[in-house]
Amino acid sequence: MQAKRAKRQEQEDAQEEVTEVAENVLRMQLPIVIPGLGHVNCFALIDDEGAAVVDPGLPTPGSFKALEQRLGQAGLRMKNIHTVIITHSHPDHFGGARRIVEASGAKLVAHGTFRLGYQKPEVSVDDLHAHECADHAPVESDELRKPFTPETPSFEGRTPWGGDRPRPPFKMRMRYRLMRTIGNAMRFPTITKPVLGGDVLRLAKREFIVVHTPGHTEDHICLHDPAEEVFLAGDHVLPTITPHISGLSSHPDPLKAFFDSLDEAAATPHVSTVLPAHGHPFKDLAARCEAIKLHHDERLEKVRSIAREIGPASVEAFTQRLFKKHSWGTMADSETYAHLEHLRILGEGDARMDKRGKLIYEL
Ligand SMILES: [Zn+2]
Ligand SMILES: [Zn+2]
Repeated sequence: MQAKRAKRQEQEDAQEEVTEVAENVLRMQLPIVIPGLGHVNCFALIDDEGAAVVDPGLPTPGSFKALEQRLGQAGLRMKNIHTVIITHSHPDHFGGARRIVEASGAKLVAHGTFRLGYQKPEVSVDDLHAHECADHAPVESDELRKPFTPETPSFEGRTPWGGDRPRPPFKMRMRYRLMRTIGNAMRFPTITKPVLGGDVLRLAKREFIVVHTPGHTEDHICLHDPAEEVFLAGDHVLPTITPHISGLSSHPDPLKAFFDSLDEAAATPHVSTVLPAHGHPFKDLAARCEAIKLHHDERLEKVRSIAREIGPASVEAFTQRLFKKHSWGTMADSETYAHLEHLRILGEGDARMDKRGKLIYEL
């Protein structure tokens, strides 16, 4: 009989308690309903004018109420929020922005390439099932610094590898449907202050550098404060789970982008406190980046060995050997596709379209 593993820290329920995790930086846990995750950390950066909040949770009334309650503990009210910062385009990070902007008139900060995309899972397909058993650079120009309102994404069409559009595994489908309904019903507020890597934001009475870290999403940013050695990591680097890397990306090689961003994070000097969007603060950013890279290196090695075993095959055929049966589906295919494309772009193989319109990989 298989022993039930302990809950991972990213899956713990949101605690009401507000903690000061660095000078003028408060951790406020908000409840989320997302497969594989139990809370999202919204960080309040306090200064003389009030507070900036990073990643204000889902667009649900419950999340908004929890945020009000957490702010209250710190002697703050919604109207004291002068800035909302979104690390990336996933609903547990941007969802609360509209209500806050309406209540406070806060300015809204996100990367200049921010786009509402497909509903992607937050964490690697393996991690989703841990318990349930369940050299391209974005154009960085002045254009990207102009305020804009993101459009609602479409879910039509086929995937680049010839499969259906994302369809989460059976057990999660209902929850994803709910998320999608929430997402579609929501008008997105205007991003009044788009930022790019290297920009400096005055927060918590000191300067934070914007670090652009494409991979988990192309628009992902982290915030680095060299003075107090704090690194707000968003979903780029999580303490015990690996973020989902989707092949459904505008980046030709999202896995390469993710590796590069991990290297950049690992090489950042003056980091002693890492504040992830899910799970607890931790210290060694470089070590965690290395561990996540190792996980993907091992997966790439497995893809190579599957190719030797089965010869030319579709993305789905690779998925079925790479993942356990309960994980099969478009989400897993998307991760497989990202790994196959990475190897193809490295020059380790080719892909051709067969008569059914499916990509066949030969490594
Ligand atoms: Zn995410
Ligand atoms: Zn997240």
